Amino acid sequence: VRQRRKKEHLANGNTAPTSIASRSEQIVDGVTGLIGNTPLIRINSLSDALGVEILGKAEFMNPGGSVKDRVALRMIDDAERLGYLRPYTNSRIFEGTVGSTGISIATIARARGYHATIIMPDDIAEEKVKALLSLGAEVERVRPASIVDKKQFVNLAKQRASQFGQTPTMENGTAPKVRLPNSHRGLESASHSVLVSTTADNVDFENDTWKYDQEFLTKPRGFFADQFENKSNFDAHYYGTGPEIWKQTGGDIDAFVSGAGTGGTVAGCGRYLKSVKEDVLVAISDPEGSGLYNKVKHGVMFDRKESEGTKRRHQVDTVVEGIGINRLTRNFELALPILDDAFRITDVEAVSMSRYLVQNDGLFLGSSSACNLLACVKLVQKMGWENSGKRVVTILCDSGIRHYSKFWSDEYLAQANITVDLSIVNQLLKHH
Ligand code: PMP
Repeated sequence: VRQRRKKEHLANGNTAPTSIASRSEQIVDGVTGLIGNTPLIRINSLSDALGVEILGKAEFMNPGGSVKDRVALRMIDDAERLGYLRPYTNSRIFEGTVGSTGISIATIARARGYHATIIMPDDIAEEKVKALLSLGAEVERVRPASIVDKKQFVNLAKQRASQFGQTPTMENGTAPKVRLPNSHRGLESASHSVLVSTTADNVDFENDTWKYDQEFLTKPRGFFADQFENKSNFDAHYYGTGPEIWKQTGGDIDAFVSGAGTGGTVAGCGRYLKSVKEDVLVAISDPEGSGLYNKVKHGVMFDRKESEGTKRRHQVDTVVEGIGINRLTRNFELALPILDDAFRITDVEAVSMSRYLVQNDGLFLGSSSACNLLACVKLVQKMGWENSGKRVVTILCDSGIRHYSKFWSDEYLAQANITVDLSIVNQLLKHH
């Protein structure tokens, strides 16, 4: 493939440097103006080898470095619209995250005058903690993500938010349910797990608007962003990423592939794409140890017999960060009815694909992007789409920069017994 590309390149007389296409000619409004509208990249090595267009949405180009900027922005915008957050009041956003969402929240928090407290498992790559601290976030590290109890990172974020001293939660039923002003209808679902409740006092029913009294305007508020259950996450992709992909491909798209952590990406993009083109295939890439593959293929996350006696049933034991989970989140539940397939990706496959992409395409990607591209290749093969010219779109969630100390560390991989083996990728692509 390389030889062929080289010949084509020379034959085309391509000797002048490629010009850097300007991303936009407008002036954007602050850091949030840089979020979204990411390009779609043709992955040349894989596309040429398969005879299928493999396109990756370059989410690593977001200012916070990942696809999660979109989600953080939507969650914060929705919370502001609903009155849960008021900018510049020392309000504090709490989140449990493996890192990317925290970095996105911390970024936007700074721009909007909020504080951020991020609770994350302590087995996550160190550079994510450094990024969070540099962004002025408060970071609390707890036991590995796999241990599910009161101190699990998401549960603890929720507790910390409630300890911050806000009014009773809507969940425990102590706060009255309110009729939302028309301007906020449709956002009710975003609020179900938000800890700062809206009380009837804040709503001017007559004028159908919020009324903010002095205390409400000035009192610091706590907000549990709750990306796993918050529908703003789904909406960020249903109203943002999905339509962008549709527009960029001009509707010429045959399949969409994505990993799932919260499930927001695959649910939002998948549902939007199916709403405009029914026969777009939607599939997930799932790392070792995650239950989502089983859920999609067999309807249950765990085979009870298989997991019996294994002490770490909840462990998603993989070097891949950000995707794979062993519980059903509300956002993933939105994806379940529309999922056509799932592909299991091993750690060895993921690290090998990431190195292959650097060597052949100059693309330095994070672990979930490598999984996604492997799942694209597997889907093409399973469907027999080789040399069909069809188009498969996936998400390049973040860059390798966030993964130096684990996924991109030779020492870490050696100690974890994970071997980079480029022949695995070559083998996968060879018979085309
Ligand atoms: N890739 C990375 C790097 C992530 O951090 C995440 C989110 N945890 C995902 C992929 C998965 O996206 P989603 O949460 O929308 O399923």
